[in-house]
Amino acid sequence: MFTKILEPPEKIRATCVQHAPNRRYPPDSYRGGFFRIGMLWFLWTALSGYSFLGAQTASNNLLVVIIDGARYSETFGDPNRTYIPNMNSIARNGSLVNTFYNDSLTYTSRAIPALWCGSWTTVQDTIINGQSTQYTRKPTLFEYFRKQASISADSCVYILKYVPSLWLPSFHPDYGPDFWPSFVSEGSEDQDVLQNTLDVMNATHPRLLWVYFAGVDHAGHSGDWAAYTQAIQVADSCVGVLWDALQQDSVYAGRTNLMVTNDHGRHDDQHGGFSGHGDDCDGCRHIMLLAAGPDIRSNLVTGTYRRTPDFAVTASQILGITPEYATGNPIQEILTQSTTGPDPTQPVAFHLGQNYPNPFNGMTRIPVSAGNQGPVSLVIYNLRGERVKTLVENTLSTGRQTFVWDGRDDHHLTVSSGLYFYVFTQGNHRSVRKLVLLQ
Ligand SMILES: [Zn+2]
Ligand SMILES: [Zn+2]
Repeated sequence: MFTKILEPPEKIRATCVQHAPNRRYPPDSYRGGFFRIGMLWFLWTALSGYSFLGAQTASNNLLVVIIDGARYSETFGDPNRTYIPNMNSIARNGSLVNTFYNDSLTYTSRAIPALWCGSWTTVQDTIINGQSTQYTRKPTLFEYFRKQASISADSCVYILKYVPSLWLPSFHPDYGPDFWPSFVSEGSEDQDVLQNTLDVMNATHPRLLWVYFAGVDHAGHSGDWAAYTQAIQVADSCVGVLWDALQQDSVYAGRTNLMVTNDHGRHDDQHGGFSGHGDDCDGCRHIMLLAAGPDIRSNLVTGTYRRTPDFAVTASQILGITPEYATGNPIQEILTQSTTGPDPTQPVAFHLGQNYPNPFNGMTRIPVSAGNQGPVSLVIYNLRGERVKTLVENTLSTGRQTFVWDGRDDHHLTVSSGLYFYVFTQGNHRSVRKLVLLQ
């Protein structure tokens, strides 16, 4: 069935899923059923020997939504949240990480696998059923979950529009195809993906659902601002419908978490604007992370620097599994229960590190270590001693963390070039350092 394994390409190709032709499969015959690629999955599912009602290590479910290529300035970076009223409302019931970053490759074909794997991973080319496709070299969240929690493929489902060749999870010897999710790859628009997700939820109530919306990136590449912002509103509506469906479903209500993120953003206006992406600019890197549900703290906005590989590690913690090949860290600050957080009996020295890069343009990171002496604050001041930006205030925090400053003040306006002070305070401890902003 896997007729040919190709060597990895010389150069990483920057491709996006939406560049695949938009067509339905099977044409016209779709009646809301599931299309699973080939008989392979049925076979593997049948042979895997894991019962449908497998043991569960954690009781709560997880719905993941990936919105391809929405720039932060049009989602939670917009103080008015103009295009995302539904997600803005969900955020009040949950946690928002406003410093979540794609820290490596800002295009879909590498960022999505990194979101699955909890690690940046190389991919391997292969031919499946005559179609060239790619699989990840590291195990994925799906594989960890199905193996460790004895979950059937019916209870671990990946839903996206029709694509001619799916990117695949790993062939890792410890995991691999026995533990892949079932795929529903149908339709062409985000609305089709939404309907298929609702159908799957009603039919089998998967414990882990991974939903991919491609419409925003597709519209962004068209260069049509109205189409791009409309697509964000559509994706936002889809998230709102899914959230409401979770609350109204007797199996899911009160037992299901939602996590919404992006693979990458889009160029900021200084680096080519919204029609493209894929470089080192802040617009491409800054992505959203919204989470809500029984395992997520409510009404929380955090400014702790977090990055793409942290996503699947956090999802794993919610699902009660251990992603042993992942490199990310769990985003403990958004979780109601932490099992691997800092040991509170272990004293941690209070320390304020030098920001990097420094001088900076766009974005800089400030490393801190907090002890056990209570709430912390981290504030930027100008040379006149005026408070410019409050990065953290009255947040209980322990251990080493990194905070991000994007050169904007508390009113979301870009501040002028020059020397600034940043002050880190906890209890009787206070430390001050200088940084230089070059706009
Ligand atoms: Zn793209
Ligand atoms: Zn860019």
